[in-house]
Amino acid sequence: MANRIPDLLLRSERAISDSQLQRAIDFATSRLRDHRAKIMPRMKGWEEMREQARELRLHTLAHLDEYLEALERKVMQRGGHVFWARDAGEATQYIIELASRRRVRDLVKTKSMVTEEIGLNKSLEQNGIHPVETDLGEYIVQLAGETPSHLIAPAFHKSKEQVAEIFSRHFGTSIPAEVKTIMGVARKELRGKFLAAPMGITGANFAVAETGTLVLVTNEGNGRLTSFLPPILVSILGMEKVVPRLADLELLLNLLVPSATGQRLTTYVSLLSPPRGPHETRGPQEFHLIILDNGRSSILGGPFADILTCLRCGACLNVCPVYQKIGGHSYGATYTGPMGAVLSPLLSELKNHDSLPHASTLCGACAEVCPVKIPFPDLLIGLRQSQVRQGKAPFGQSLVFSLWSWLWSHSRRYAFSARLARAFWPLLGNGRKFPVVSGWASGRDLPPPAPRTFRDLWHERNGRSRG
Ligand code: SF4
Repeated sequence: MANRIPDLLLRSERAISDSQLQRAIDFATSRLRDHRAKIMPRMKGWEEMREQARELRLHTLAHLDEYLEALERKVMQRGGHVFWARDAGEATQYIIELASRRRVRDLVKTKSMVTEEIGLNKSLEQNGIHPVETDLGEYIVQLAGETPSHLIAPAFHKSKEQVAEIFSRHFGTSIPAEVKTIMGVARKELRGKFLAAPMGITGANFAVAETGTLVLVTNEGNGRLTSFLPPILVSILGMEKVVPRLADLELLLNLLVPSATGQRLTTYVSLLSPPRGPHETRGPQEFHLIILDNGRSSILGGPFADILTCLRCGACLNVCPVYQKIGGHSYGATYTGPMGAVLSPLLSELKNHDSLPHASTLCGACAEVCPVKIPFPDLLIGLRQSQVRQGKAPFGQSLVFSLWSWLWSHSRRYAFSARLARAFWPLLGNGRKFPVVSGWASGRDLPPPAPRTFRDLWHERNGRSRG
């Protein structure tokens, strides 16, 4: 951990001192927060829905093997292919081999965090296959050579001036910084790609075990074009995204969309049953579903399994005081914000990203907005504890916290340490010279201990001497 935290700190310091980035993050997160806040009074029974969704998601995880096998059967009955990928390497290799067999050189893609997770674009490019992102935000970050900075708004860190510059460079002509013009250029370029692409790749917001239906939730229509026009369709599904029944979608969509964008429903909710049937004239002729594990099965059934109930709405990012200052790229991981602070280290088994559970104030704002009630503070503290157990915490920090725990887990020792702190407080310079909190206190004053403690007052009122 010791050599990881500076990376996070370094990237965070850079982000905080970038005034354009600060304006962009502030604008985007507050807009998404406002949209959500505006729709909440209209969402009758919200708390009950959250409870139901949490139960449904936990139930699904408890029976994941059954639901995934049911999904596989349904897809195969329709003539689709199902591939179970243990990790990123297996998933990308499957797609590369399929593309090579079908002589695919260019393909279109929808926004999908799971493809970011497995580094699909990079692997495809290395093998001479050129993916084109078709979500506008994702297209912008692809042209900029970057990664998404938010779950649902990948390019929200870019101003329109920056986007115009990226487009001008890419298309070799001066494109004005006007949203309408930029969108027109992207639309024209992408239409041609949709029509020509022999293969489309999508993620999936959900997949229904009962029917084998894939669900794409988008606002731009690119999901439909990607999944409908190319003759070959490949969809990658994080294995936790399966839902038992078609009827369950009503509950989950009613929670996902308002939490994500503040809409009742997105412009497009596509329910797909590829490949095309014998009497259908449109839709992909060939369909491959990749069910991805990539570390998820090691989270299942463990103390952090709640994170697998995540719907990827992004609401926890928008309310997180840390994310609002450092933005997505500072996390150095695919999944960012509170959900990423839990999920990213787990997917890499705490080998990488082990500083992320510390990128939280534990204020609990994320847990309050999460539509599936993920108990973030508990999970973040649990991850920190597991790092300590694995000996990953810096020695000095472990020593101080062990001492602190020892002192405050016994009433007499607690009273003694409180008296000690009060006596020596002036020497500690408002906490700035106190070893554990000196960094934290360099920018703010620690409240001084009260002249008379609660225990003093308690004993005085009860006429007893202090213990
Ligand atoms: S953890 Fe909850 S709030 Fe955050 S993205 Fe997932 S579902 Fe949304």
